[in-house]
Amino acid sequence: MIPVAFNYARPDSLDGALALLAEHGEDATVLAGGHSLLPVMKLRLAAPEVVIDIGRLPELRYIEVRGDEVAIGAGTRHRAVESSEVLAAEVPLLAAVARTVGDPQVRHRGTLGGSLAHADPASDLPAAVLTLGGTIVLRGPQGEREVPATDFYTGVFSTVKEPGELIVEIRVPRTGSAGWGYEKFVRRANDWAIVGVATVDGRVGLVNMGATPLRATATEAALADGASIEDAAALAAEGTEPSSDLAATAEYRRHLARVLTRRALTTAAAR
Ligand SMILES: Cc1cc2nc3c(=O)[nH]c(=O)nc-3n(C[C@H](O)[C@H](O)[C@H](O)COP(=O)(O)OP(=O)(O)OC[C@H]3O[C@@H](n4cnc5c(N)ncnc54)[C@H](O)[C@@H]3O)c2cc1C
Repeated sequence: MIPVAFNYARPDSLDGALALLAEHGEDATVLAGGHSLLPVMKLRLAAPEVVIDIGRLPELRYIEVRGDEVAIGAGTRHRAVESSEVLAAEVPLLAAVARTVGDPQVRHRGTLGGSLAHADPASDLPAAVLTLGGTIVLRGPQGEREVPATDFYTGVFSTVKEPGELIVEIRVPRTGSAGWGYEKFVRRANDWAIVGVATVDGRVGLVNMGATPLRATATEAALADGASIEDAAALAAEGTEPSSDLAATAEYRRHLARVLTRRALTTAAAR
C-alpha cells in the first residue's frame, strides 16, 4: 500500500515545527515515530499534503524529575521510557507499561507523545497516563496549556488537541513505592490489548473498554470505602461500553476487565 504523495519537512527546532504547522494548518500533520501515522497514511485514511517530522528534535526528548512530578518530553521513545532509571524509581508503572508495547522495533521508534496524540483506545500508554493522573502539555499559536489526562481524550482517535498544537510534554506524579500493577490480555505476543488494566495507589485505568481510556471509578470508590480486592474488582466493568469485534465480544471484555482488575490489584497489594 502506498500513501498519497506528500511534501516532507524536517524542522531543526520546536519553534520551526510550530511555525510550519501554523503555515499549513489542517493540510499538515506531524510525524514522530511514524508507527501509527504511516500505517494510517498507507491505508489512505489520512492524506496530509505536508508531513512535518518532529521525530528527531532533541528538545522533545528528556525524562526529568521536577518537584513531585516527572516531566517527559513528548518525543521520548517507548524504549527510553521502558529503560529509564528515573522512571523505574519514581513511576515504575509507566516504565512497565511501555515494556508491553508492541515489539522492540516499535518501542525503538514510537514516542509517548505520538501514542497519546493518536488516542487509540487499545493503546497501553494513554491509559497508564490517565491512571497516574498525568497532565498533557500542549503548545500552539496561543501559547502553552496544560490538560489533565482526564479531560484529554474525547473519543476514538480523538482528543482536545487543536490542529495547530503539539504535545510537548507529559507530566506524571512521582508514585515511588506505591503498589502498582499492569495486566494486558493479548491473543499473540507483542499485540495490542484486547483489554488492559493499570493500577497504582488505589487508582484503576482500563484499556479498550470504551471509546477512550477509562478510569474504573466504581472499583476506585469501593477500594476507598475499604472493600476487598475481590469485591472491588467485580465492579470494574461498571459504566463501560466496550466494543465487540473479531478479538472479543463486549461481554467477554467485561469479564476480562473484572479478572484483570483483580489480578492487577493483587499484584499491587503484594509490592
Ligand atoms: C506493529 C505495531 C504494534 C504496536 N503495538 C502496540 C501496542 O501493543 N500497544 C500500544 O499502545 N501501541 C502499539 N503500537 C503503536 C505504537 O505505540 C505507536 O508508536 C504509537 O501509537 C504512536 O507513536 P508514534 O511516535 O509512532 O506516532 P506517529 O505514528 O508518528 O503519530 C501518530 C499520530 O500522533 C500525532 N503526533 C505524534 N506526535 C505528536 C505530538 N508530539 N504532538 C501532537 N501530535 C503528535 C501524529 O500527527 C499522528 O496523528 C504498535 C504499532 C505497530 C506498528
